[in-house]
Amino acid sequence: MALVVQKFGGTSVADLDRIRAVADRVARARRNGDQVAVNVSAMAGTTNQLVEWVQAIGGVHYDRAEYDAVVSSGEQVTAGLLALALQAQGLSARSFLGWQAPLSTDDAHGKARVEASDVASLRKSLDQGQIPVLAGFQGVSPDGRITTLGRGGSDTSAVALAAALGADRCDIFTDVEGVYTTDPRIVQKARKIERITYEEMLEMASLGARVLETRSVALAMRHAVRLQVLSSFTDVPGTLVVDEDEILEQQVVSGIAYSRDEAKVTLIGVSDQPGIAASIFGPLADANINVDMIVQSVSADGNTTDVTFTVGRADLERARTILESNQSDLGFRRMDGRGDVVKISVIGVGMRSHAGIAHVMFKALADRDINIQAISTSEIKISILIDEVYTELALRTLHTTYGLDET
Ligand code: ASP
Ligand code: MG
Repeated sequence: MALVVQKFGGTSVADLDRIRAVADRVARARRNGDQVAVNVSAMAGTTNQLVEWVQAIGGVHYDRAEYDAVVSSGEQVTAGLLALALQAQGLSARSFLGWQAPLSTDDAHGKARVEASDVASLRKSLDQGQIPVLAGFQGVSPDGRITTLGRGGSDTSAVALAAALGADRCDIFTDVEGVYTTDPRIVQKARKIERITYEEMLEMASLGARVLETRSVALAMRHAVRLQVLSSFTDVPGTLVVDEDEILEQQVVSGIAYSRDEAKVTLIGVSDQPGIAASIFGPLADANINVDMIVQSVSADGNTTDVTFTVGRADLERARTILESNQSDLGFRRMDGRGDVVKISVIGVGMRSHAGIAHVMFKALADRDINIQAISTSEIKISILIDEVYTELALRTLHTTYGLDET
């Protein structure tokens, strides 16, 4: 008998019919002999509505503990309704709120971190042959207040639950059939990936494949929780996120992600002397502005150089203001900032043992006349920055080049 945690996202519990359909699915898993613990999100749209209400009454500086009291309520509704729907099928089921599980967190209201959890009540419920239904996204602080884990946090509570129970698998049900080699809305030949490593999934998630919350992947990796992403609207197997040694035929490149949330800043005519990089990036770091790709060109005259780097698009104006106010210290001649760029990343653990992956990428883009404005690499990823208008062409080209197209 396997123990499976099933997590259902907002679109999977969007209305009463969907909740009944979820109950059918849970019931089927039970009839197949599995032990099931369930974790649910709020009905689609509910959390947004709750956040709006908090802002409307609480203003910009609302009390974060009360924010949590309000926005956690969406999950309470779906947990109770699903327990009722399961009972209607003749199954024994019970809802649990974060504090009842308990799922312990720190006290960072609005973005709490899960701490070691024993989920004793849930375990007891399972032992009694019950189906426990945990309200996702929420936990309890050391002083007993309700906390929430940050938007999209029900993936993380599902993984925390699976880790605490030592579950054989954590199934994340959503409205897509799995993780794709790239965005299928842009590249028609994108394929569903059967198996992907935690590390690759972590990169894909943080680079814009929004199917799993990044923190949940990190948590799954840390506790070796086997994850499956699949659709609650169909009955086909999804994508398994697993350890590297569970993947027999490793592709060199597993997926291609892209992010439009980038902006490029170029400082022209920066004085070329020791300490200059520190004085550019220090003030940005102090302002909590993350810098991602950095390119410094060789100085033509030995005295000045150009420095290009990327920041989040939302931070562009702030970065500009900070650099301008330091212009006399930094001694640059001119600054250019633009938001019409996109970062494209090819990802694959197979890169560790294969040379020439970057060259293939650069060549393919050059053949399409796509200019690369910045490059950064890690052991399992190569990222490039290009003009945003080439997003589609670059994604399609690279997808074909690395042999990822659906045949
Ligand atoms: N309901 C919460 C949100 O919308 C948590 C989640 O769905 O993961 O952010
Ligand atoms: Mg989600």
